[in-house]
Amino acid sequence: MRSKGEACPLTCSVSKSHSVGYPWKKNKKTPRRTAYEAQSSNLPILKKERPWYKTINSTVLQQTLRQLDVAFSKFFKNETGHPKPKRRSRFRSFKYTPGQVKLDGNRIYLPGIGWMRFHDSRPIPSGFTLKSVTVRRKARGWFVSLQIEDKSVPALPVKNKNEISPDRVKGCDLGIKKLVSISNGEIIQNPANDKVFKRQARRLKLRQRSASIKKKGSRNRKKSFSKVASLHDRIANSRSAYHWKTAKVLTDGTDALIFEDLNIRGMKSRCKPKKNESGGYNPNGQSAKRALNRAISDAAWGELIKKIEVVAAKSGIPVIKVNPRHTSQRCPKCHHVSAENRKKEKFVCTNCGHHNDADVNGAVNIKMRGLKELGIDPTQLPLVRGEVTPMELTAT
Ligand SMILES: [Zn+2]
Repeated sequence: MRSKGEACPLTCSVSKSHSVGYPWKKNKKTPRRTAYEAQSSNLPILKKERPWYKTINSTVLQQTLRQLDVAFSKFFKNETGHPKPKRRSRFRSFKYTPGQVKLDGNRIYLPGIGWMRFHDSRPIPSGFTLKSVTVRRKARGWFVSLQIEDKSVPALPVKNKNEISPDRVKGCDLGIKKLVSISNGEIIQNPANDKVFKRQARRLKLRQRSASIKKKGSRNRKKSFSKVASLHDRIANSRSAYHWKTAKVLTDGTDALIFEDLNIRGMKSRCKPKKNESGGYNPNGQSAKRALNRAISDAAWGELIKKIEVVAAKSGIPVIKVNPRHTSQRCPKCHHVSAENRKKEKFVCTNCGHHNDADVNGAVNIKMRGLKELGIDPTQLPLVRGEVTPMELTAT
């Protein structure tokens, strides 16, 4: 494939029909090379043609091809978009295979680079084997993440139906203002409303503005944008820390966790344009939607659920996702479904008068649905109420 600039086969698209490289191998069972094998066998030729590839450790090159292979297989399964071509300055990470990297206190040996010192951010337990090692470049420096395995620690089996007591099951409703509303009436607030987070968001806005008015291509612009990037990094770190804490709170004293199966991409979609007779467009609420989309991105529900799944797996807690249909409109007492049941922050059933905090009520419905999926009869449960005072109820 020919292209302008740094044409690099590692970063070009691979055809799944093996049009790149020699297609056959000696194996009689599967005589065709996979895209990865074809490209990997091309590496020596590549090194001859572009000598700077020789400076890169050979397993790192192979791992990069593997990552590309993963990216393409995800793309062909329709899970992600088409992988984007990258030039070498765009690469932010590289990976070593197991058995390559050595550790000695706060020194690490990276093949092709040598011994390097690193800041030991957390103690590494003894008696483990080092799996793959990834080196990443971030806005505030280089980071190395070590994947370690200890075979003496057995994997905990996931709890089955008989080990789960319905009182210790938590239904969780994800939201923007209240990050997680739990079916037992507890609420975990969104840190975006927190003083520190608000200050960070304001600082980010100021830095972005000051960076964007700098002269294009200038050194000052570059410096300003690196400041923006480092603040982004900080914010992402503190959000991630908050998510880990939330995951800990949710999994403590719990037998099973139930979430709604959210279509986050669908929720963030743009509003449909509204045409008018004169050929122009009427306002369709997109500017308000943009703010909501940003809030959805900031809450990072997908990231949160991934972390919860990691923490839950450690104690064998099953994490179940249920269909969210009508969970905010349904009365858990008499099963009456109506859009009028929900009155902003409150839930008041128009049929039987059952009332609760709207989000906690949603969480209760999610829990009921999850229990059904687990095969436990949810009808015998007492209904827990969130913080709704009679005053609030009479106000409507
Ligand atoms: Zn009702």
